[in-house]
Amino acid sequence: MVRAGTRGEMTMMIATAFLAAALLSPGTDGAPQPPRSLPHAAAIRVVATLPVYATLVKEIGGDEVEVTSIANPNEDAHFVRPKPSFALDLRRAQAFVTTGLDLELWVPPLLDKARNPDVLEGGKGYITAYTGIHLLEVPVSHDRSAGDVHVYGNPHLTTEPLTTLQIARNIAAGLDRVAPDRAHVFDAGLARFTDRIYRKLYGDRLVEILGGPTLEQLSLKGTLFGFLVANDYRGRPLIQDLGGWLKEAEVFRGGSMICYHKNWAYFEDRFQVRCVDYIEPKPGIPPTPGHVAEIIRKIQDQRIKVLLAASYFDRSKVEMVAEKSGATLVRVPMEPGVLPGVDDYFTLVDTWVSTLAAAFAKS
Ligand SMILES: [Zn+2]
Repeated sequence: MVRAGTRGEMTMMIATAFLAAALLSPGTDGAPQPPRSLPHAAAIRVVATLPVYATLVKEIGGDEVEVTSIANPNEDAHFVRPKPSFALDLRRAQAFVTTGLDLELWVPPLLDKARNPDVLEGGKGYITAYTGIHLLEVPVSHDRSAGDVHVYGNPHLTTEPLTTLQIARNIAAGLDRVAPDRAHVFDAGLARFTDRIYRKLYGDRLVEILGGPTLEQLSLKGTLFGFLVANDYRGRPLIQDLGGWLKEAEVFRGGSMICYHKNWAYFEDRFQVRCVDYIEPKPGIPPTPGHVAEIIRKIQDQRIKVLLAASYFDRSKVEMVAEKSGATLVRVPMEPGVLPGVDDYFTLVDTWVSTLAAAFAKS
């Protein structure tokens, strides 16, 4: 005799049958249809500290994720004052994306209030951006006494497309842990993002000749340019096939600039341009008039042509330095969502590279 189950069991059985049918039903070409739009598949709730991380979550998770970010796009990530409602969002979240260094010192109190073990360090939904990234500017001693806010190394990881690609991998791995039944969606999202990063960074032609992973390895070893100059393809040096952001950045490769804050370490490394000094005497410490005067002298003595500042720093201060020193001011957002049309990672890097290229070309 078949015993009637409880209502819950019945619902479960129907859902399972529906799932099996959806998994097995062939598409028009006979291939199984991906179970994307099943009624059980509610979007995964994700909270990210920064808007840029939220856009990466969306690139990878698409309709399978619902993501909010805590910081505003034009806010200094070191000094965010989160609204209390974010503790509630974190309590309900299934995944949380944070840098994992000391960038967001405002995160621990929020996590304490949220009391959600899934998104605490060690929880399956806790995703750190820095995992797998070779950190730059790591100090010998962890000393915050002088006010330095980069004590574990430079935490502004998203200024470089390949470190950002690693962050995307970390996010995909985290989403896979949270919802392994949808791993195929996240893996496909990551594959699309990876291909776009390669093509935007190196240009289509070089990606087609050498493949993105080979180019990435050469870049991470620091041997890309030497390799492209030394090796030919169909009778001409590979460097002539370079396209994308790295080609556009040729005008400032090897160049020097003054920067406001140590935002740009990873960008400097990838695009071979240097911040030779900073308007802030130390990261997070506002400049004194004496230090500003010293920087203005330095710009003039060394004939530095470009001053680069994130748009969340006081406009009047950087405009004054530019005016007094004669340097061209490049003031750009650090995050998507500040300028109209600059609302994802690709348009953000487009903005950095094209604005810097224009400033160096004119100088
Ligand atoms: Zn910083």
